Amino acid sequence: MPRSTQVGATGTYVNAKVYIAVGISGAIQHLQGMTHCETVIAINADPNCDMVKRADLSVIADSSEVMQALVDAVSGSGNAKGSGNMQVNSDVMVLVSVGQHPLSGRPRRAERDAKALELALSLDGIPSVVLAGDPDSAAVREYLGMGLPKLNVLKQPEQADTSAALCDFVKSGQPSLVLCGARAEQGESSGMVPYLVAKALNAAVVPEVVAVLSRSDDSVEVLQALAGGQRRKLRATLPAVLIASQSAQDARQSAFTKARDGLVNVLEVAVVDDTEKQGWQWQPAKSRPKRTKTVAATASSRDRFRAATAAQASSGGEVLRDVPANEAAEKVLKLLKEKGVL
Ligand SMILES: Cc1cc2nc3c(=O)[nH]c(=O)nc-3n(C[C@H](O)[C@H](O)[C@H](O)COP(=O)(O)OP(=O)(O)OC[C@H]3O[C@@H](n4cnc5c(N)ncnc54)[C@H](O)[C@@H]3O)c2cc1C
Repeated sequence: MPRSTQVGATGTYVNAKVYIAVGISGAIQHLQGMTHCETVIAINADPNCDMVKRADLSVIADSSEVMQALVDAVSGSGNAKGSGNMQVNSDVMVLVSVGQHPLSGRPRRAERDAKALELALSLDGIPSVVLAGDPDSAAVREYLGMGLPKLNVLKQPEQADTSAALCDFVKSGQPSLVLCGARAEQGESSGMVPYLVAKALNAAVVPEVVAVLSRSDDSVEVLQALAGGQRRKLRATLPAVLIASQSAQDARQSAFTKARDGLVNVLEVAVVDDTEKQGWQWQPAKSRPKRTKTVAATASSRDRFRAATAAQASSGGEVLRDVPANEAAEKVLKLLKEKGVL
C-alpha cells in the first residue's frame, strides 16, 4: 500500500469529523496520523487495544459482521449517499496548483485555489479541474478529496513555466467560466496566470470574487470583495475568469476516501522552460527587527503612545545648529539621562 494511502506518522495525517477504525489496534504511529479527528469510532475484537482507549465509541465484535450490518442499515434507511450529480460540467473549469505550507514548506492544496474550487462546486455539476505540475504531489489527492471524480494533471517539471500549458488546455476546452486563485504559493508566483488565461480565452477577469450568485447563458453575477470589508454585486459577460478572494468561503475538508478513490488523469504536454527564473538568485529572507523609539518611563502617556505608534523617520530628528556649546552639551546630557545612560 503506498504511503499516501496509509494513515499515520509516516503516512497521511487525516482531519476527519468522524474516523471509523475497523480492526486497527491503535499503534502510536497510527494514532499520530489521526490526532485531529473529532470523533473516533472503533470496531475491534480486542477490548484492550489502544484504539478502543482512544475512541469515543467502540464496538467490540467481529468487524465483518458489524460492517455488513452497518451497510444494511444505511442502505435500508435510504441514507446512502450516492455520487450525487457527478456529471462533469466542462463549461466550468478550475485551475489549481500545488501549494506550500507556510511554516513546514510541505506541499499541500493551495488555499486560494481550494477556495476557487469551493466556489465552482457551489454551481451545478462537477467542474473540470486542471493542475499543471507534479502528478504525484500530495496536493493532487487533497483536491480530489473535495469530491472530484477526476483531476486532470498537465505533467510539468519544477523548472517549467506552466502558464503556456494551462493556456493551451483552457483554450482547447473553451469553458465559459474559469475559476482560480490569485497566485501560486510557490515558484515564480507572479499572479499573471489568470490574466494570461483570460487573454487566451478573450475573457473578462473579475478579481476578489467572494461568491457566485447566479449564472445565465451569457453572463455571471458575482459578489466582489472591496477594501474595508465592503461587497458589491457585479455582472460579467461570459466567458469570464473569476479570481477567488481570500474572503471567499473556506474550502471544505478533503475527505480521505474521496481523495483515495478519485482518478488522476495525467496528460503529457509540451514543457516550456522558465528562462526568466533561471537568472534569479535565491536566498533566505533576512528578518529586520523594527526599532521603536524608547521614551522615559516618566514621559507622558501621550508621548509614550506616540513613540510606540509613530513610524520611524530616517531623518527629521532635532538638529542643533549655531547654538552655544554649553547649551548643546545640556541637550546631550538631557538625552543621555532620558535614555537611562546617566
Ligand atoms: C518506524 C515505523 C513507522 C510506522 N508508521 C506507521 C504509520 O504511519 N501508520 C500505521 O498505521 N502504522 C505504522 N507503523 C506500523 C505500526 O507500528 C503498526 O504495526 C500498525 O499500525 C498496525 O496496524 P494494524 O492496527 O492494522 O494491525 P494490528 O496491530 O495487527 O492490529 C489488528 C487489529 O485488528 C483486530 N482484529 C483482527 N481481526 C478482527 C476482526 N475479525 N474483527 C475485529 N477486529 C479484528 C485486532 O484485535 C487488532 O486490534 C509504523 C511502524 C514503524 C516501526
